[in-house]
Amino acid sequence: MKCNLCPRKCNADREDGSLGFCGMPSQIKVAKWGLFNFEEPCISLNKGSGAIFFSGCNLACVFCQNYEISALKNGKTITTKELADIFKQLEDMGAENINLVTPMHFATSIVEAIKIYRPKIPIIYNTNAYETESVIEYVAPYVDIFLPDLKYYSPQLSLKFSNAKNYFEVAIKAIKKMYELKTNKFAPNGKMLEGIIIRHMILPLCTEDSIKVLETIKQYFPQAKVSLMAQYTPMFKASSFKQINRGITKREYEKVLNKYIELGLDGYVQDLSSASSCFTPKFID
Ligand code: SF4
Repeated sequence: MKCNLCPRKCNADREDGSLGFCGMPSQIKVAKWGLFNFEEPCISLNKGSGAIFFSGCNLACVFCQNYEISALKNGKTITTKELADIFKQLEDMGAENINLVTPMHFATSIVEAIKIYRPKIPIIYNTNAYETESVIEYVAPYVDIFLPDLKYYSPQLSLKFSNAKNYFEVAIKAIKKMYELKTNKFAPNGKMLEGIIIRHMILPLCTEDSIKVLETIKQYFPQAKVSLMAQYTPMFKASSFKQINRGITKREYEKVLNKYIELGLDGYVQDLSSASSCFTPKFID
């Protein structure tokens, strides 16, 4: 079957070995899985999030912190049954949730794995938001929490840094669908059980864009939790782009943070000291 799962609409026959923009055949490829403590507090909580990092990606972010699996496509091919076994193992290890990282291009296989074994802990769909509304509707009954990025407002920036000129118009529709389908619910200990957290990472010399992103979130998603990330570290091809070949400054951080506060957004804000490569998981055991 030809793949038109995401807005790239490659029409590639992934079952027959053809590859589209995401560079992945139809069979699931996973780079790493395990307990991960660097997510938002309501996600990591005590024992950590049970993260499963899927290989490949339908964006091409020049600064990707996970470029070894997204762009270089490292990982191991597994079956849907093996993925269901990983859900069970993570649950047995005490994971607070199952965190599907960059799952979209394997959406159908992931749903099949959840049908084989649905853990009793929340399932998180952790996405760059470059997705179609139909995929969001399709996965919604099988996941509890949507964790989308809203990376850019400007088409010039999204084209330059992620090769996706229409990123904002696509992502905003996808997030509207997520927002419509999930309502925030928390356990008494603060653990998120259902809902949506929208993430935005501040990039160097892009504070005006960040402010437009935050204003958009306030306008369309007033009840969503918002996670403002300051962990940007130049990696992968970032050294080829002078604008983003450094971390964000205190001034840039405070400018965006002040807007976050002024808008009355609610959620999580990373400290500026988060900008370190130690937040980047290592891949391939
Ligand atoms: S999921 Fe991959 S192959 Fe399918 S349309 Fe998107 S980028 Fe292309």
